[in-house]
Parts: sequence; structure tokens; C-alpha cells
Amino acid sequence: MERASVIRKTASDFGVAPNWVDYAEARREFSWEKARSGLAGLPGGGINMAYEAVDRHVAGGAGDCVAFRFLGTDAERTMTYGELARQTNRFANLLGALGVGKGERVFILAGRIPELYIAVLGSLKYGAVACPLFSAFGPEPIATRMTLGDARVLVTTESLYRRKVEKIRERLPGLRHVLLAQASGDIPGTADLQRLMEQAGDTANVAPTQPEDMALLHFTSGTTGAPKGAVHVHEAAVTHWATGRFALDLHPDDIFWCTADPGWVTGTSYGIIAPLLHGVTSVVDEADFDAERWYRILQEQTVAVWYTAPTAIRMLMKAGDDIPRKYVFPQLRFIASVGEPLNPEAVWWGQEVLGLPIHDNWWQTETGGIMIANTPAFDIKPGSMGRPLPGIDACIVERDAQGRVRIIDTPDTQGELALKRGWPSMFRGYLNNEERYRKSFAGELYLTGDLAKRDADGYFWFVGRADDVIKSAGHLIGPFEVESALMEHPAVAEAGVIGKPDETVGEMVKAFVSLKSGFEASDALRMELLGHARKRLGAAVAPKEIDFLPSLPRTRSGKIMRRLLKARELGLPEGDTSTLEGDTSTLEGQS
Ligand code: ATP
Ligand code: MG
Repeated sequence: MERASVIRKTASDFGVAPNWVDYAEARREFSWEKARSGLAGLPGGGINMAYEAVDRHVAGGAGDCVAFRFLGTDAERTMTYGELARQTNRFANLLGALGVGKGERVFILAGRIPELYIAVLGSLKYGAVACPLFSAFGPEPIATRMTLGDARVLVTTESLYRRKVEKIRERLPGLRHVLLAQASGDIPGTADLQRLMEQAGDTANVAPTQPEDMALLHFTSGTTGAPKGAVHVHEAAVTHWATGRFALDLHPDDIFWCTADPGWVTGTSYGIIAPLLHGVTSVVDEADFDAERWYRILQEQTVAVWYTAPTAIRMLMKAGDDIPRKYVFPQLRFIASVGEPLNPEAVWWGQEVLGLPIHDNWWQTETGGIMIANTPAFDIKPGSMGRPLPGIDACIVERDAQGRVRIIDTPDTQGELALKRGWPSMFRGYLNNEERYRKSFAGELYLTGDLAKRDADGYFWFVGRADDVIKSAGHLIGPFEVESALMEHPAVAEAGVIGKPDETVGEMVKAFVSLKSGFEASDALRMELLGHARKRLGAAVAPKEIDFLPSLPRTRSGKIMRRLLKARELGLPEGDTSTLEGDTSTLEGQS
């Protein structure tokens, strides 16, 4: 189907007036200093994320507003800001009673249950560092991360403890306290979280944390190699607040659903902190992905703003368009996506099937918050990740022969995406890897490791990760472009593209695709796809080989692992697969 290259937007497209409409003016007017005044701060110049997220609203009279709606597999539980304040006070007091030191690390290994949210916010309130781990990790990835992070406390459930932690416990001598939720009785070496919570008082003083005090530790997805531990500080809340306003268009009465698990940075920055900073009600689904269930949630919970990931959108597309037709969601007004490139096909699918385009945005574990986004304030060019948010300066750079970094001003030129340092949620280090951290900067610029282009209108276009770009017959080919072209074919649900060494052209473009339900792999379909891609991309860029796979290897956060497709194709070692999704037919939690 032929489609326009731009989705035009006007304020009247939104049921609720957007937070901003003028990109140039907002960028001009914005300063991080002004953004800070959106928060309260602590007396003496301190800032505490949990205070800003929870207690500030209670002090302002919003204690009865609902902070979370937890959707269990069969029951629903709501938690008000008031209750969240009391519960996090209890958790902070409990850490004090255990003698946990300020700045020590509290790891949380749990599904999306209330205890996880209470432990994260309670740790922040106490002045400890919170580190949520994705609950589907096996014992090894858990041990590696807890060792690297020097875990002092672990909050988990009895069942996860027995299955995953018991066997690695003796390798974690620094782990002093294991607190079990949903415990059935006394288990040696652990304490019952609920009992400790009951014993602790429900009023507490907020720790006088300073802007640069460490607050959160997040591990990257491990898409390109071994996951890195990124350190974030309390003042990151300023970015969370500003991006909640500019990129997600949060309004105080909104019902918001971020589908990411807090084990990934999106699930914390936008599944916990940002929505609370704006006083909205967040839906938390404790269950795993299920297309029918997700549409039902959008309808029944009357979700207004929905933040999800390309992999989830592709799975909804794969499930077919008959399911969404059974549901209506008139309150839904804004959909955003992050984590991987969002193929134009997916943006259009949103527009045509859900009635709303999907707003792609770009950021990383390292950036702590959304940096480049499609927003309510300007038209969407499907396939572009949007424009830098107010307060963010992004550019495209290249290195010269001496390794010096130079900014490329010419539009539409491919290079590495870089950001001018200084936004509050910028990571302050890779844990135990100072050198790698230093290498990520060139003077005032943070180098992201992603390749992109900027067009004449200031929109950024993702090309691929620096490691994934294919060099074929003198061309640099971004896998995203090829994957997007394949996705336009009605049979294709997912595509992953790699460069395969080739004597003549250097690297040959090879694609792996999985098919939508109702389509069968065959030589005829392969020929058809090769022809389709050649017509769309030209012979130099189109794949020469296509393999069919039932599904593509993904990280547990839902990203296609091209390095694994490549290693498998070439019979090379697979490298770090600690975040590889075990059963690739399910989607466990997206970053
Ligand atoms: P690792 O650094 O361990 O390899 P990772 O980079 O996948 O893992 P994250 O920090 O979770 O870990 O992901 C950030 C990366 O995800 C970005 O650098 C980019 O490559 C990709 N990404 C995120 N959002 C987008 C987007 N909207 N478009 C294209 N790519 C995106
Ligand atoms: Mg990365």
C-alpha cells in the first residue's frame, strides 16, 4: 500500500490538549534549571527520587489518588499514593533496623508484584541504591550482576529464591539479608518480608540524598555483548519528570501503562518513577504477554497513554487484526515505543488498526531517560525516531584518521549518534569499568555506539548499531532499512539482517525472517521476498539470502540479537548469552 511519508498532526487530533505544541519555542524556553522547579527538592538542596515520586503528592493532598493498579492473573489490587508512602516508609525503616548502610545496594528479583515497587521506592527513600533484576534470569546472570553490584540485600519471593538463589548464595558473601515475599514459613538464611514490614513503623524521615548520590543501578540488555552496569543518581528524576511531560505527554489524571518490566531501565524510569512524578495512575500487568489480554487491558483499564516496545507491537501485528477489532479504547490518546527501531510498517499499523500512530523514541540504559522522540508537538515521519527533546542536544559525528571526533553538519550523512553531556539522568559510570566509561566520551560529547542520520528538518533516523552495520561492495548498509523493507511484505512478522563474509563484496546481506500466522515457509515465498526486497531496496542493498526461522533470537528485554544470528550462521562462539530469551515464542518483559 502506498502511504504518505509524513503523518501530520494538529492539536485537534488529541482529545486532551497536549502539554506542548511548538517544538522550537519549547527548546528555546527550556532549561534544566526550570525543569528542576517542577519538583520540590529537599531542604538544603537535596533531592530524593522517592520523595518526589510519592510523598510530595501526599503532602500536596493527593494521598487518596491511585498510584498503581496491579493486575494479577485473577485479581486486581489498587494502591493509593498514601498507601505507597506508608509502605515505602515501612520498607525504609526495615532497612534501617537491619543496619543497611546508605548507598548500599538492594537488589530486587521479583515479578511485577507490589513488593517490587515498594522495595525500589523504599530503598530510594532510605538512601540505599535500588537494583531491580529481571525475574526470568537464571542463577548465573543473577550471580554475576549481584557480585558486580556488591548486593547487600536481596528482596525476592520464596519460589524464586528456591529455584535461583539458594544454589548461588554461598558465592555472594556480601549478601547479608535475603527478604522473602510470599513466604510460606521460616526458610534458613532468609527473613519474612511481610513480618518485617509489619514490625516497622509507617512514618519515616526521607534520607537527605544529594543530586549526585547514586540511586539506581541498571544493567544494559546485553544485545551487543556482556551487560554493563550503569550508575544513575537521584537528580535523574528531573529528566524523568521532563520527559514524562514532553515525550509521553503525561497529564495528572491519566491512566498510563508502561509494559516494560522494571528489570530493564524503561520499566523503572517509566514504569515507576516518571508516572509517579506526574501523579498519574499506572497500570501494572503481572502476567506475561498475551495479545487478547493486552487489548482487553487497554479497553477495561481505559488506558490513555501507552508506552510499549517494537517487539510487543510486532507480536500484536503477528496475532492478526481481528483481535483488536473486538475491542474499543476511546480514551487511548498517545502510544509510544522504545527499545529497538520501529519499522514504518508498525507506525502505520497503529494508525490503521488502533486509530493512532505509534510514536517511536530513542534512548539507552546509559541515558537514563528518553532523549530523542516523536512527540505530540510535531508531525511523524514513520521510520524516524523523532527529534531531540528540549534540553537535549544530539548530533552525528565521525572519527578522523587520528581518532578525533568531528561533528558532521551535512544532513542525511551517516555517522555515530552523540549527545552533549549534562542532562540529569546521564549515567555516572559503568560499575567497575571506569575505562569503558571514559571511552564513551569525547570532550563534551557522549558517544552512543549507534549509527544514525539527521535530516534537514532535524529528525534523526536510526541506521543500526555500530557493530551491526554491513559493509557490502563499498556500501554501508544499516540492517534496519533492510528489515523495514521486508516487514512491508504481508507474510513477514519479524526480520533480522546480518552481514555474512563474502569474497567478492566483503559482506553479503543475509536476512532471517519469521512469518505471520497463516503463512508457510517455502521456496516460492523466499523468491517472492527476495524479489520484493530487491524492488524496494535495489540490488546493492537487498538481501541475497533469506532463511526462515519460527522466531528470532531475542534478549529477554525483547531485542533481536543480530550478533547471535551471525555467530550461528558462521558457526562462531555465541558469546555472552545471559540475557538470551529462553523460549522465543513468549515475550517476558520489554525494555
Ligand atoms: P548492550 O549495551 O548491553 O549491548 P543494549 O544497548 O540493547 O545492550 P539498552 O540500553 O537496553 O541495551 O538499549 C539501548 C539500545 O537500544 C540503543 O543504543 C539502540 O541501539 C536501541 N534502541 C533503543 N531505542 C531505539 C529506537 N527507538 N530506535 C532504534 N534503536 C533503539
Ligand atoms: Mg547499549
